Amino acid sequence: MRFLFLQDTIDSESIGVAYISSVLEKAGHQTGLFITSLERDLFSKIKEFNPDAILFSVVITKQEYYNRLGRILKDIFPRTRIIAGGPYITLNHSFAKNDWLDFAIAGEGEDAIVELAESLQNQTDYRKIKNLIYREGGEIFVNELRQLRENLDELPLPDRRKYLKYPSFMSLSVKRFISGRGCPYSCTFCFTRKLRDLYRDKGRYIRKHSAERVCEEINIMRRDAVIRRVHFSDDIFLTDRKWLEEFYDIYPERVGLPFQCNLTANIIDEETIRLLSECGLKGVGIGLESGVERIRSRILGKRFTNEEIENVSDILHRYKVEIYTYNMIALPDETIDDAIETLNLNRRMNVRITQCNIAIPFEGLPLTDMVIEQSLLTDNTFVSEMKRRPESPIIKVDNPEQFERLFLLFPFMVRTRFGNNIIKKLLRIPFNFLYRLLHRITYFLNMKRYYDISLFSGFRIFMDIRRGEKYLRSFFGK
Ligand code: SF4
Repeated sequence: MRFLFLQDTIDSESIGVAYISSVLEKAGHQTGLFITSLERDLFSKIKEFNPDAILFSVVITKQEYYNRLGRILKDIFPRTRIIAGGPYITLNHSFAKNDWLDFAIAGEGEDAIVELAESLQNQTDYRKIKNLIYREGGEIFVNELRQLRENLDELPLPDRRKYLKYPSFMSLSVKRFISGRGCPYSCTFCFTRKLRDLYRDKGRYIRKHSAERVCEEINIMRRDAVIRRVHFSDDIFLTDRKWLEEFYDIYPERVGLPFQCNLTANIIDEETIRLLSECGLKGVGIGLESGVERIRSRILGKRFTNEEIENVSDILHRYKVEIYTYNMIALPDETIDDAIETLNLNRRMNVRITQCNIAIPFEGLPLTDMVIEQSLLTDNTFVSEMKRRPESPIIKVDNPEQFERLFLLFPFMVRTRFGNNIIKKLLRIPFNFLYRLLHRITYFLNMKRYYDISLFSGFRIFMDIRRGEKYLRSFFGK
């Protein structure tokens, strides 16, 4: 059978798609991929590919886009099956109500998609396939999740070759890899806890590939594309100390490329960073979220103090490891002074590249339950109806327009030494157009630094991402 993946933009390759593609190919099927915002004549190209099934991975902030795209596709290609997957589908089965959607797959989908492909090919009964969501007579049926695969190394190497035709992807000399699945923490704003609950009694949730396999995957990818730095995009890179020893023994010799990864403040100590640094660690992403301990710990469920995180940043700087932080503003009970404290903590940690988001209370998460209980949602537009990441607060806060300006200025301000008084004055001035421009310029510079790319490549990627954003906006007629 012929399977075609559609992905809206090229912000990064989807490793989930790459795994599904590889298991389908291993089972004897053919797969293809189009980045919808980069294809000029998308529907003719789909026709030319002639797929038996079209697949998307749906993220919550883009579900409206996929809903509309799915409807159009079903009108043009009524006989082609449309299949959706991804964490949003796993946690919210209501997406399967869309009548253009033939099937959805919940959870880790590699085995389910192969069984579904076989069943469609041989026209056998698919209704018992675990992880499958299907409709019959207008009713949605959600099958049980299967046991988690214990040994991740049994999966074939993810198929990233489909992305190689896109120059933006080729220009990124930092390529993403995953060394394991699962996270042991329970932050109140994150899907992890819910996914872990869903998989209770279904096997070990946190698993690693062997270090051998990780090295092999990187080296094989190096044959097709330039890689100057490896980005391990696991939720948390270090979940197993014994694994670190295995990695330490072989990575420097077999791969030897500098790498970056995500860690949490409470697992970082000098010895760990020394070992990782000897392996080539050059950058660490940390979910700081808020600079105010009360908010970080009580509201977001992240338990480390400001003193601990500042010590961690000292260790990382001592080993010349760059720090990237993820931050959130416009949280329940947060004042603009609290949000400025988040900015200041980043500056004390000497962070240059930050990501700052407006807090989004996704459905069904503990943070969201709290927001609903306290009637803190700004309007009736629930998060599931959102079309893209918001720029203004969704949770009720005082001075929402100042939060919006801080969101725009945050990545730039982190690089400055302006005092609180100047920042507060700037937040009162409605220069949003100028702030948005600064936001974009800083985004571009951060991307260039993060991916260690030339001005030309950076510009090309930036334009592709902008083209993706415009494409999505034009899709919604705005
Ligand atoms: S540490 Fe990161 S991935 Fe893990 S629960 Fe918290 S936010 Fe989610």
